[in-house]
Amino acid sequence: MKFVSLLGATGSIGQQTLDVIASHPYQFKLSAMSVGRNIEAAQHIIHKFNPEICAVQNEEDAAALQSKVSTNTKIVFGMDGLIEAAVSTKASILVNAVIGSVGLLPTLKAIEAKKTIALANKETLVTAGHIVMREAKKHNVTILPVDSEHSAIFQCLNGEAVDEVEKLILTASGGSFRDRTREELKNVTVKEALNHPNWSMGAKITIDSATMMNKGLEVIEAHWLFSFDYSKIDVILHKESIIHSMVEFADTSIIAHLGQPDMRVPIQYALTYPQRLELINGKRLNLWEVGKLHFQKMDYDRFRCLKLAFDAGEMGGLMPAVLNAANEKAVELFLDGKITFLEIEEMIEQAMLQAVNVSNPELGAIQETDQRTRQFVESLLNKGR
Ligand code: NDP
Ligand code: MG
Repeated sequence: MKFVSLLGATGSIGQQTLDVIASHPYQFKLSAMSVGRNIEAAQHIIHKFNPEICAVQNEEDAAALQSKVSTNTKIVFGMDGLIEAAVSTKASILVNAVIGSVGLLPTLKAIEAKKTIALANKETLVTAGHIVMREAKKHNVTILPVDSEHSAIFQCLNGEAVDEVEKLILTASGGSFRDRTREELKNVTVKEALNHPNWSMGAKITIDSATMMNKGLEVIEAHWLFSFDYSKIDVILHKESIIHSMVEFADTSIIAHLGQPDMRVPIQYALTYPQRLELINGKRLNLWEVGKLHFQKMDYDRFRCLKLAFDAGEMGGLMPAVLNAANEKAVELFLDGKITFLEIEEMIEQAMLQAVNVSNPELGAIQETDQRTRQFVESLLNKGR
């Protein structure tokens, strides 16, 4: 029996993780969880899985939830609560599926507590990859990717010599607007942006897919997870999302990972690694049904956010944290109907231009930069840009 701590249980990845846990009751037990503000869903999850502890975002919600649950689940709140849920139970693995840079500290504390990390939260590695990987090495902790592209690369690299790798090739579906020109992007609506052709995901990452920032964050994540220079990381458009990513080797061979676009596959693999289990209710991939797979060279002028992410990654230091915070804030403003779709990339670019970079920053500097960048983006809005 593997005991699991799950942060972000009410989200898209969180719900699918619960599905995997529930479908293998003899293999997995949920021992800790966290939610943000969705107290009603938390109540159902607690009732069904009876974890020892549940963290919520704020104090009032904690009190309301505690009065509603009849089990002996301890309700905690805030960042302290999130960390308690990440480290305090006998869980051997932490699935970090919260959204945003709030996921960083619980990951670091769980590494110190020697928990295996199944990482969905991109922001952890994007903002502080050097610290996270250093700590994981120091505490001999394995970080298992949950993101489908990184899970694919992780599997393609299995048993291979790293120095024989020529390139990591991440595939990108292109998101909701892949067939539109930049001109056609000017007046797109939030509703259109939220309509992803292949994957059903949370709102923020669906917008990130439409701007291609999602792939940009994944490039930075891949750099840290697999220790490759940015010059050895490539992105290719592949609209069917059947090949989840590939690795090219010195002898020109390319190994690819194929599967249905179903996040339960990489989630379950991270939970069972190095073994595999049947995916309950998983649809098998029949390539004859798919018929054709398409690929297209990435256009960095069309997808400027991806270019900005490569730039930030190569600059290193605080710049990926600036990129990430500016993107989080700009996407929030877009979802609130306060800015247009193309203003997302403009705001990120302006935030990067005004930032003062520092190499090898410590946690405090990263957190401060995160806050300062959000304020800067907010101030752009007030200035009327
Ligand atoms: P969702 O928006 O669906 O869910 C986010 C989760 O985090 C919810 O449980 C939410 O709680 C919680 N949360 C949000 N803000 C806070 C906060 N300030 N404090 C504590 N908890 C908070 O996101 P996704 O599941 O789509 O994504 C989660 C992470 O996984 C992201 O980093 C994303 O980039 C990554 N990822 C997602 C994929 C996907 O298919 N969805 C694929 C690969 C990576 P509540 O709803 O209760 O407020
Ligand atoms: Mg992905």
